[in-house]
Amino acid sequence: MSHPAPSLFSGRLKRPSRVLRSLLVSLGAIWVPLGAAAATPSQAALKAEVERQVPASIRQLGEMVSIDSGSSDAPGLKAMANYLDARLTALGASVERKPVPPAAGDMLVATLHGKRANNGGPRFLLLAHMDTVYQSGTAAKWPFAIKGDIATGPGVSDDKGGIAVVLGTLEMLRKLGFGDYGTITIAFNPDEEIGSPGSRHLIEQLGAEHDYVLSCEPGGKQRILATSGIATLSLKVEGKASHAGVAPQDGRNALVEAADIIGRTAALSDPAKGFKFNWTIAQSGSKHNIIPDLAEATADIRYIDEADVTATMAHLRQLAAAPAVEGTRVSFTLGRNRPPMVPTDKAREMAKVAAGAGREFGYPITILDKPFGGGSDAAYAAVSGKSGVVESFGLGGEHAHTLGEETADLGSMPSSLYVMARTIVLLSGR
Ligand SMILES: [Zn+2]
Repeated sequence: MSHPAPSLFSGRLKRPSRVLRSLLVSLGAIWVPLGAAAATPSQAALKAEVERQVPASIRQLGEMVSIDSGSSDAPGLKAMANYLDARLTALGASVERKPVPPAAGDMLVATLHGKRANNGGPRFLLLAHMDTVYQSGTAAKWPFAIKGDIATGPGVSDDKGGIAVVLGTLEMLRKLGFGDYGTITIAFNPDEEIGSPGSRHLIEQLGAEHDYVLSCEPGGKQRILATSGIATLSLKVEGKASHAGVAPQDGRNALVEAADIIGRTAALSDPAKGFKFNWTIAQSGSKHNIIPDLAEATADIRYIDEADVTATMAHLRQLAAAPAVEGTRVSFTLGRNRPPMVPTDKAREMAKVAAGAGREFGYPITILDKPFGGGSDAAYAAVSGKSGVVESFGLGGEHAHTLGEETADLGSMPSSLYVMARTIVLLSGR
């Protein structure tokens, strides 16, 4: 690519006049905006920037892990939001805090406008969550620590590692002067670990408004195109209490009825179809000598195809209509959690680009296009079906949600930074 001679331009002239452009064309020169020419980083330039960025990103990761921000920890979530607001503002983003009740903290939505903001440039959404599963005071007892390539601390991979990758990527793109995108929106929510009850609708809306969503749950060596839908099934059996020793015949045993239903539905799973139905909670009875008049149980459901849920509910309604213990009343309630995420063409395109970036970096990435049973906010972002959504741009890690054991693989930091930045650069060029 040839550059127009600098002498033809005065200062920061953004675009030559039509006369000048036709002159350049006649001279065989190709018009390249100055910024853009400098701003499409080569692989080498990006790799060098990654090397410079890693220490700062590890330091930021430590700073964030030191801020307790459990899903119900309002002051902690506020401290995280303050920290990130300052970082994102320094990166040139306009930052908004959006209340998302019933979440204990605000959602942070920040926007960077690229050179192609009004010109059909691609719109990226970078999604990660500020909350952790750990209570206030955890960071003091279990502080951020690094041994070799492994860092530990509350939320170190889930999801402060994901946030560190976002901040580091934006910092690198800024230093490289890259702005060939339309917009980059950064969304950090405060309630992912409790199912995103407050931020869900905003994430769905943002997902519909962007072309590409890079969701930043822990990833490392994999990126994910599909996640399971999650639902819960609550069973309630109402019977009649009576004395178990004196007049058991007067009772209607809710526990026995519940056990019968649980036994008859214990094998509904169809793993080949990604359908998993497992009873996980049961409660009944209070005294050994009373026939229980109430039994409740909960099953966890993972699914890809809504039809499997519909068929299961129909089956359960049949069981409810004809209880084995006469005189008991059986009811089922379906609770919806995250919907399934199904890969779109755009998501497959993104994954291909990310996998290519991984190869360039010598850090091959596996693309998972079948759900493994987990769910994430990426599914909300994908609800509209308009955007490409790929999950797991965060750091590699293990034992998420486990006190004293959660780790992040800092060895995955360079590749995570490279892959996210390179994916944005390459998709911006399309
Ligand atoms: Zn997470």
